[in-house]
Amino acid sequence: MYTCSLARLQNKIDTFKTFGDTGTGGITRLSLSQEALAAREEFVKRCKAMGMQVKTDDMANLYATLPGGEDLPGFVMGSHLDSVINGGNYDGVLGVLTAMEVAETIWTEKIRTRRPVTVMVWTNEEGSRFEPAMMSSGVVTGKFDKARALASTDGKGVRFEDALEASGYKGAAENRLGAQGYAGYFELHIEQGPVLEMENKDIGVVEGVVGMVNYTVTVKGVSDHAGTTPQKTRKDALYAASQLILLLWARLSKLDPELVFTTGKIHVSPNIHTVIPKLVEFSLDARHKDPNVIAQAVEVIRNLPETLSGCQISAAENWGRKTVLFDAGYVNAVEEAAKEAGYSYRRIYSGAGHDAQYVADILPATMIFVPSVGGHSHCVEEFTPTEACLNGANVMLNAILATDKL
Ligand SMILES: [Zn+2]
Repeated sequence: MYTCSLARLQNKIDTFKTFGDTGTGGITRLSLSQEALAAREEFVKRCKAMGMQVKTDDMANLYATLPGGEDLPGFVMGSHLDSVINGGNYDGVLGVLTAMEVAETIWTEKIRTRRPVTVMVWTNEEGSRFEPAMMSSGVVTGKFDKARALASTDGKGVRFEDALEASGYKGAAENRLGAQGYAGYFELHIEQGPVLEMENKDIGVVEGVVGMVNYTVTVKGVSDHAGTTPQKTRKDALYAASQLILLLWARLSKLDPELVFTTGKIHVSPNIHTVIPKLVEFSLDARHKDPNVIAQAVEVIRNLPETLSGCQISAAENWGRKTVLFDAGYVNAVEEAAKEAGYSYRRIYSGAGHDAQYVADILPATMIFVPSVGGHSHCVEEFTPTEACLNGANVMLNAILATDKL
């Protein structure tokens, strides 16, 4: 079994931490910002030093490739270098750095692979500067309309298309990831949740990405004076909404222990302290790997009372996503590699979205999770010890080498 280098991986993590360093232990590296471009430059420099061929596609996704011994479609390992505002040093970037480390191990150990091995950087995964999230993987896999993506603007009015042109990384559409030149896709990522740590597992063998639904619940009441209206005659939309949220918690909690649901957004109108609220809209996000459980959650939402405390209730679906299942052969390869290395592991579903879920539509794909200390992510507390990151890199390397033999 081959192993990657801890010292080299540490050096990569330490170097990439500097691009967008906020001075508080985290980074702000928005897509195509100066900080993100500096990280790309370092990526390209390091890949070229290994003799890798570097190209970009029309969404500025980066591909750095080590040649294979035979004329076969290659493996891709990818993730993203952009972060949220005040994000951590592991989300996305770790998938790129471990992929670089896997390539560097193949190169320094002179491992002869039959297939080419590509390290990939996706443009704008987070969607923090330009909406939506997972923009480029969405465009490349035909999920999103490219013209709409190009028209997306950041908070300062800069169009994504202009940022793309100015970046110097815009390439040809024919360079896009696709079933033509590529055999399959691996993405290493931090778990961004507490399960692996809680269960003391080194590796998450990711079987898929959970399906979800997103609803808006609307509660209509009547606005009146906060001082002159007796409690008994009020139609207070916020009071009714509070009852509904408690009702949803009570009913959804009974469905399945793995169902997660969130009311993360609430809008109160008129939102004045002397006026009884006449309108409340709140979000409900529910996620589970089993479509039947999602269907039950939807039933609960649809069966909310039509009226409550004198207010009118309605619920509308905004969008949903089906559970994405990763390629069984690739999932098994990851599990076998973890087993052979003697790492503890468990099968797991991702509760968060990743580029790999779109890639799974066009190529065999899977993901490898490493534990997040305290389950923290999208914050400066985000941390995974380098030894734990290295475990993931070793699994990715050996899963690829095993699949390359097939
Ligand atoms: Zn990520």
